Amino acid sequence: MKPEDLVRPEILALKAYHVPKSEGMVKLDAMENPYVLPEDLRRELAAVLAGVEANRYPDPDPETLKGALARRMGVPAGMKVMLGNGSDELIQIMALALARPGAAMMYPAPTFVMYSMSAAYTGMKAVSVPLREDFSFDAPAFIERMKREEPALVFIAYPNNPTGVLYPQEDIARVIRAAPGLVCVDEAYHVFACESFMGRLREFPNLAVLRTMSKLGLAGLRLGYLAGRPEWIEQFEKLRPPYNVGVLTQAAALLLLERLEVLEEQAARIRADRATLGPALAALPGVKVYPSQANFFLIRVPDAAATFEALKRQGVLVKNLHPAMPSCLRVTVGTPDENRILLAAMKEAL
Ligand code: PMP
Repeated sequence: MKPEDLVRPEILALKAYHVPKSEGMVKLDAMENPYVLPEDLRRELAAVLAGVEANRYPDPDPETLKGALARRMGVPAGMKVMLGNGSDELIQIMALALARPGAAMMYPAPTFVMYSMSAAYTGMKAVSVPLREDFSFDAPAFIERMKREEPALVFIAYPNNPTGVLYPQEDIARVIRAAPGLVCVDEAYHVFACESFMGRLREFPNLAVLRTMSKLGLAGLRLGYLAGRPEWIEQFEKLRPPYNVGVLTQAAALLLLERLEVLEEQAARIRADRATLGPALAALPGVKVYPSQANFFLIRVPDAAATFEALKRQGVLVKNLHPAMPSCLRVTVGTPDENRILLAAMKEAL
C-alpha cells in the first residue's frame, strides 16, 4: 500500500505552499509589517502573556475578543464575527461549508492562491475569470460567467494579492448583487487601502467580509476574522475546530486591540513609504510598476528569474511570480532603510 493509492488525486496534484528560508535576509516577500512593537508595549505584552494559563484550553468562543474586534474594526450592529487561525483557515471553512457536490467557487485571477487550494481541498469546481491586461477587474465578464457557473462562493481580494490593485467599489457591488451565492470580500490589506465593505454588510444578504491581523503587524499571532450575517456565521461555526485560536493569541490580540493606534500609525508610515518606493522602482530601467493600494508592489522586469536570484545573492528576498505571471516579481514595502537596500540591489541586479 502506498499513500499515492489512497490520497485523493486532486491532493496528489497539489504542491504544498512553499515558504523559502529567509534567515538573515531583508525579507520583502510576504507582505509583513516590518516594524516590531515599541519597547514599552512589548513589556506590557510580556506581562499579560505571563499571566496566561497555558495548561488550560483556550476559550472556545471568546466573546470579549470578538466584541473588541467588532468595535475597533467597525463591524455593523447585528452582524456576527468568527475567528480563524489566520484568515487562511476561514477561507477553508467557507469552502468546506459550501462544497455541495458540483458546487463552484469563482474568483478573478491572478489572485491569492488559497482560494484555488481550498477549492481543491473541498472538491469545489474552481472557476477563475482573468483580470484585464493591466490587472483591472472586468466586472461585466465576471457577471456573465457567473450566470453560467452559478457559483456558491465568490472570493474577491480587495485590494488584490499579488497585484495590489483595488477594484472600483461599485464593480464589486454589482457582482454581489448579481451573485447567486455568497461573496466573500477579502480585505487582508484594508489598512493600506482605507476602503472597505464592512460598513455595507447590512446592504447585502450574501456578503461576508474577511479580515486578518497579519498585515497590520501581527502575522505571527495567526488571527483572522470573518464578519457577516448571523445565518452564515452560524453555519460556518460548525466547521471551526473548537480551540482554533490559542490562549497566547487571544490574550495578545485583546491587549493590542486596546492599543490599535500603534499598529495604525505603523500602517500610515508604510503607506507614506509606498508613495516614495513606487516611483523610485518605476524609475529603474526596464521596470514597470503596477499601481498598488496594498503594502507591496507587483513589478514587471525583463528577466524575473535572473533579477530574483541577483537580489537573493545581495541578501534581499522578494517573491518570484514567474512563470505563473511571466516576468513578475512582488516586493513588500519595508522600512525606509530596507527600501533603500532593495533599490540599490535592484540597480545592481538589472
Ligand atoms: N487573503 C489574502 C488576499 C492574502 O494575501 C493573505 C496572505 N497572504 C491572506 C488572506 C491570509 O492571511 P492570514 O492567513 O495571515 O490571515
